[in-house]
Amino acid sequence: MNQSLKLFEKAQKLIPGGVNSPVRAFRSVGGSPFFTKKASGSRLTTADDKELIDYVCTWGPAIHGHDHPKIREAIAEALAKGTSFGTPGPAEVEMAELIVEVVPSVEKVRMCNSGTEATMSAIRLARGFTGRDKIIKFAGCYHGHVDSLLVKAGSGAITLGNPDSAGVPSSVAEQTIVLPYNDLTAVSEAFSKHGQEIAAIIVEPYPANCGLILPHEGYLQGLRDLCNQHQSILIFDEVMTGFRLSIGGVQQSIGITPDLTAMGKIIGGGLPVGALGGKAKIMDFLAPLGPVYQAGTLSGNPLAMAAGITSLKMLRDESPYEKLETIGKTLATGFKDIAKTKGIPLQVPQTGSMYCLYFSEKPITNFDQAIASKHDSFKSVFHKMLEKGIYLPPSSYETCFISTAHTEKDAEKTLEAFESSI
Ligand SMILES: *Cc1c(COP(=O)(O)O)cnc(C)c1O
Repeated sequence: MNQSLKLFEKAQKLIPGGVNSPVRAFRSVGGSPFFTKKASGSRLTTADDKELIDYVCTWGPAIHGHDHPKIREAIAEALAKGTSFGTPGPAEVEMAELIVEVVPSVEKVRMCNSGTEATMSAIRLARGFTGRDKIIKFAGCYHGHVDSLLVKAGSGAITLGNPDSAGVPSSVAEQTIVLPYNDLTAVSEAFSKHGQEIAAIIVEPYPANCGLILPHEGYLQGLRDLCNQHQSILIFDEVMTGFRLSIGGVQQSIGITPDLTAMGKIIGGGLPVGALGGKAKIMDFLAPLGPVYQAGTLSGNPLAMAAGITSLKMLRDESPYEKLETIGKTLATGFKDIAKTKGIPLQVPQTGSMYCLYFSEKPITNFDQAIASKHDSFKSVFHKMLEKGIYLPPSSYETCFISTAHTEKDAEKTLEAFESSI
């Protein structure tokens, strides 16, 4: 029996499902997960010494590839000064200054430890600020495992066949209005009905947890306008897109200013970090200035700040976005051409370093279309690619990521593997 299988058997006795986050269990594609013993650049090395080109990139954070020497050095330097202070530290001020500098809508920022904490606090803050209870979210958007947001939540949740989690009180779920993405009329109707009760709209500006969906022209501006008209808060969940598509996230790329922004993933450089930022007059509603409570024993942790600051500074100073877009285009075009030659219907939405494979005749513009695409085709391609040393995310509802460590040669190998897999 191989090492991964041995570890998984033991893990299943000790950890629910053998994993500490559900999608890692391969339930959506079948089979059992490999275990990784180390990672470097664009590659993972499994417990059985197989090398894989990695398009999961630790689900987003590893935009510089794995084990980047600069990030490793920054952590080592911070480590020599202590792992946690429990008082304010200089790195937190540096991080805040950096985020305020690069993310257009952010005037003040509060650090936390995960994307989930960021969206949870954003919702509480929006409710506290507006004195309203209801929120609008969109089907297929995932905002972490927050009670009120685990409704039609995409990703891991749909992979397991239950878009709505057990254990969420119906009184909480009732406060969440779920609408289809890319449909402004639906949002407008919800406001007509509940306008005075809606605290906020929360949206992944480019939904990336049910594959990858891009907005129709004018859609996000439409959300901004409706929030303005009804004095509701617009929350961009840029946990996935922030710092990935441009240093300032989707809000910078398309020039729309949300009131609050949830951040995570890349912001921690591979360590656990999240952040909530936005307009000062809203952010000042947070404790200790305001009545909305939010806290964290390890928030602003010096090791995590060191890794995150280094990750963000490299992006700001080296701006690798064009290079990432080039490899993204090579892959997307390659996948589409190969599928076309073989007469297999395939959609490959791609923007910058994000792409996904939908086995579908038509472009995907919302969650219902995403779940109607052919998952069996994805499953079979996933396993064949893995066999050939290419690790795609183990679910067709996930986005593939490219890092600055991925080369044209990696892309070439990936396309060769794809050609012989479909
Ligand atoms: C991953 C993700 C989250 C949750 O972040 P965690 O760090 O896993 O809690 C929230 N929103 C989006 C858009 C995400 O992709």
